[in-house]
Amino acid sequence: MGTKPLVDLSDDEIAVLKESSLLVGKTLAEVAKRIGPGVTTGELDRLAEEFIRDHGAVPGFKGLYGCPSTLLISVNEQVVHGLPGDRALRDGDIASVDCGVLMNGLYGDSAYTFMIGEVAEPVKRLLRVTRECLEKGIAAAIEGNRTGDIGYAIQQHAESSGYGVVRELVGHGVGHKLHEAPEVPNYGRRGHGVKLRTGMVLAIEPMINMGVKEVKQLPDGWTVVSRDGKPSAHYEHNVAVRAGKAEVLSTFSYIEDVLKKKGELITA
Ligand code: MG
Ligand code: MG
Repeated sequence: MGTKPLVDLSDDEIAVLKESSLLVGKTLAEVAKRIGPGVTTGELDRLAEEFIRDHGAVPGFKGLYGCPSTLLISVNEQVVHGLPGDRALRDGDIASVDCGVLMNGLYGDSAYTFMIGEVAEPVKRLLRVTRECLEKGIAAAIEGNRTGDIGYAIQQHAESSGYGVVRELVGHGVGHKLHEAPEVPNYGRRGHGVKLRTGMVLAIEPMINMGVKEVKQLPDGWTVVSRDGKPSAHYEHNVAVRAGKAEVLSTFSYIEDVLKKKGELITA
């Protein structure tokens, strides 16, 4: 057993956290409006920070563990923790955008993988399957289950689709701190791990590689890439554990309303 206390939030705290999670969704919708070929990751980072601060919140990542930015933007073979900068996105890229906010003492943390222009069909499939992995993980996040049930559901779907599940990075509890116990791996065994109960809020975030599961870190000390250089996708929601069905606190609906208007929504 870990030494850190497990997350237990009251319904009032969960309602406050949900506002933070929704602000992340709205921030990612601002990113969705602007993202496209020729846009730099640094520009997206600046607009996200401005939007968050305009809404009375602060970026959740910036300054944490020395993180220099509001967003972490991971392009193509980058799995997570890509640092925004001068890189211009190109037609055919995918970009996983991870965002956290802190508002009224509670964190929201959500991520979405965007398509830039025309993306190859096998890469679209990776995005679709990773989204499905997230849904399957959420479906397992119910009272009485264990973290291993979430990981099992995600791993089964990813591996049966021919993809690799990243082991080194995992989901987590979220609350008054961005990262709380328990860890929520995207792989696991049914009936193993930490028992889930109402009051726990989890960030479930499959990181799925088109090729091998292995990753490595770039010399910048942040960016994690797939070892074989193949693309990787990442979607993240915050969910409150409940009996029978998890309550999803974050949303992609603001993002997808924008993408629909732009004709960039991925379809089944
Ligand atoms: Mg995140
Ligand atoms: Mg997270």
